[in-house]
Amino acid sequence: MRFEHETLTQRVRFAPGDAPAAVRAEVERLGGSRVMVIASATEHDLAGKVTAELPVIVRHDEVLMHVPVAAAERARAAATAHEVDLIVSVGGGSTTGLAKAIALTSGLPIVAVPTTYAGSEVTSVWGLTEGARKTTGSDPQVLPRSVVYDAALTLSLPVAMSVASGLNALAHCVDSMWAPRTDPVDRVLAGEGIRALAAGLPDVVADPVGLPGREQALYGAYLSAVAFSSAGSGLHHKICHVLGGAYNLPHAQTHAVVLPYVLAFNAPAAPEAAQRIADAFGATSAVEGLQRLRRAVYAPTALRDYGFAEEHIEDAVRAILEAVPVNNPRPVTADGLRQLLRAAWAGTDPMASGGTED
Ligand code: NAD
Repeated sequence: MRFEHETLTQRVRFAPGDAPAAVRAEVERLGGSRVMVIASATEHDLAGKVTAELPVIVRHDEVLMHVPVAAAERARAAATAHEVDLIVSVGGGSTTGLAKAIALTSGLPIVAVPTTYAGSEVTSVWGLTEGARKTTGSDPQVLPRSVVYDAALTLSLPVAMSVASGLNALAHCVDSMWAPRTDPVDRVLAGEGIRALAAGLPDVVADPVGLPGREQALYGAYLSAVAFSSAGSGLHHKICHVLGGAYNLPHAQTHAVVLPYVLAFNAPAAPEAAQRIADAFGATSAVEGLQRLRRAVYAPTALRDYGFAEEHIEDAVRAILEAVPVNNPRPVTADGLRQLLRAAWAGTDPMASGGTED
């Protein structure tokens, strides 16, 4: 029982159906009087309602995946030109990412209002891309000061995107069980995150405009990101980072597809983690629990459906091998990775990709 756990300083409000008042209270608490609202054109109406009563000085909607440096520079220039003193971001991980890019160079406080289950709002990790090269880093300045979770804002998230994003959150939980800095606190949060997501996501699919499933999923997504933020990137995130960066695959769907293969690969070598995951699913094994959930929510199944070509496998294996965490519970060989990626590419049974029954 020797470990170090850092708790990041952030205020979180769960306010179903009540984002406008909750956001206003947070902006007042932080003394914001010249607010910049960041929301993509798709989330324009949603953001308009949430921020209607704020002292908004500028609205910025140039939100692009993976935050290109040039777009970050334009957003920073707008913040400076309008003498902004606080940023409110309303949207998914891409929107939060742009707010973080501004905070990185300006130190401006962020009130984040997430509308997906990506979890970026809970981490001090930023990401910027220049051409095909993605740079990430960690800086306490980019951690939003406040987060307002309103499940009603996620009702418009299409079911397929909700499922992919929810499984992205589930991947934070699973990887947190064995990531480089994992500790007992992370594993408790991750277990409860799995339970909440496994309860919420089937309800989201069955009743996309019902609040209870969305609330559970958002709560699980928050816990997943807190655990992940502390535990760091395990094998799953290293694989997805390479795939997303080099082959421009969609973030949430890539995580959703790859997760069962990494779980089947690692579970036999991490029996305690596997038992914890199985218990959280209420299943006899971790893989069985995940697969049962995936079937119930019609999860994405194959990387080939998202633009990953079979001939990319060899290059991807080489790039991933360089990034494998040294503490991964099971040794990772080129052959093991090749089998894993081939199975994820084709969408075949995860247990046939080098995994064994856990
Ligand atoms: P995203 O933000 O790109 O959103 C995906 C799509 O969903 C977009 O088209 C968006 O307009 C739409 N959308 C979002 N909310 C909606 C809503 N309520 N209703 C209707 N449509 C809605 O995708 P994402 O998966 O949320 O985030 C992915 C990005 O976040 C990636 O760039 C990833 O690297 C980053 N990320 C960063 C961290 C971190 O800690 N820094 C963690 C997780 C993800």
